[in-house]
Amino acid sequence: MESLRDKYEVVIGLEVHAQLKTKSKIFAPDGTEFGKEPNSETSPITLGMPGVLPVLNREVVNMGILTGLALNCEIPERCKFDRKQYFYPDLPKGYQISQYDEPICVNGYIDIKGKRIGITRAHLEEDAGKLVHAGADGLAGSSYSLVDLNRAGTPLLEIVSEPDMRSSDEARAYMEELRNIVRYIGVCDGNLEEGSMRCDANISIMPKGSKVFGTRAEIKNVNSFSALQRAIEYEIDRQIEIVEEGGKVVQETRLWDDNARETKSMRGKEDAHDYRYFPEPDLMPLQISREWVQEIKDKMPELPEAKRRRYMGLGLSEYDASVIVEQMGLALFFDEVLKLGATPKIAVNFIMGEIAAYLKEDHIEITDTKLTPENLVELISMIEKGTISNNIGKQIIVDMMKTGEKASEIVEKRGLSQISDESAIKEICQKVAEANPEQVAKYKSGKVQLLGFFVGQVMKETKGRANPKAVNDLMKEVLE
Ligand code: ADP
Ligand code: MG
Repeated sequence: MESLRDKYEVVIGLEVHAQLKTKSKIFAPDGTEFGKEPNSETSPITLGMPGVLPVLNREVVNMGILTGLALNCEIPERCKFDRKQYFYPDLPKGYQISQYDEPICVNGYIDIKGKRIGITRAHLEEDAGKLVHAGADGLAGSSYSLVDLNRAGTPLLEIVSEPDMRSSDEARAYMEELRNIVRYIGVCDGNLEEGSMRCDANISIMPKGSKVFGTRAEIKNVNSFSALQRAIEYEIDRQIEIVEEGGKVVQETRLWDDNARETKSMRGKEDAHDYRYFPEPDLMPLQISREWVQEIKDKMPELPEAKRRRYMGLGLSEYDASVIVEQMGLALFFDEVLKLGATPKIAVNFIMGEIAAYLKEDHIEITDTKLTPENLVELISMIEKGTISNNIGKQIIVDMMKTGEKASEIVEKRGLSQISDESAIKEICQKVAEANPEQVAKYKSGKVQLLGFFVGQVMKETKGRANPKAVNDLMKEVLE
């Protein structure tokens, strides 16, 4: 397949649905909390009863504008809502309120690894409910399906990219950056597994050098970044095979099955006219004043890209900066630590080293531990003052995360403070020399690399508490 791949160029555009984290729904007062008893978060509006009227949630618009600005979009002075008609059992009204030709955000972009990916538009819409099928949770052995409308009416922002991506790597990088952005601005959890962020990938191929895009397939049901990449790779090969055999790719919606590792045809792709869009008569077009936009712009938190650049300015490598930004909990913690005046490089070594490893092992967030920024800063300053060695610091950080104890308390309790007293260290050096006469003789006859061995012995004797620099100097003195 590799050589065939070289003949084709891949074109990818993503449609990403981000569930906005409002307390209530987009057009109804019901709550949006996940995991409630089925159909408990419903009102006549959500149930689509005749005669009810939708009322737009202002916070949804605030979040839509904030996201648009973070994605470098224009926010038109006017947008409106439209009805998109389709029948599905989890859509009681028989239509979804969405935005069609006048969305809230247009003409944006984000930069990924130096490449600009255009964002055509982002529009607000309501989510549908959920069907719980036979055999699923609580329905084991049943032959029927149930409808849960708790999710119906939850606000979504659908972010539509330009067909600017050329590989599954780029698609993944775009999706990851989008997720970073919505999380940092606080509008969405960005959890692909739980579906608070969902992605449809549009994929087509064309002969290399061609300017005319091929027919695309839309892939739904990708629930992780790695699944997105796998689905795209599979789809590229599938399409190449069709074209190579003289066939034509049909425009359709396909479902990714991550267990079977393949896409399956779900339905032919509808065209816009199939939905019979028309302006929602129960909602006035929305006027968004420039003052409103400015007010939100003023509240824009630091975006991931700016954060990465700031960290690199502190001396972090691009890789370290990206890894920290990727884990928002760690980045916010790091920012607190910096605010308290810690030396960035030492803080990063702890965060990227022992702390990250511990979190990974237990699958937890830094906020699930008892480590506070203040306590890490104290630990760092104890190392800088020479009260404890860096090694001791590494040994006690996990306990600090587990118990919430301060470094100074642990050091005091266990007698871990660094021995900097020269006469005490020198005594130990002498002891070590006496215990190893053969090595001393070798050292004296020119094998000076043995210094490391002696230093190691002293560190062992002192359980790592001796000041390494002092040990080095004093051991040399004793040997010479
Ligand atoms: P629809 O809403 O019917 O799916 P859109 O015009 O909104 O159609 O496009 C959906 C997505 O498909 C966009 O992200 C766009 O960039 C992408 N896209 C359009 N044409 C192609 C193509 N030929 N190959 C790959 N992606 C495409
Ligand atoms: Mg679409």
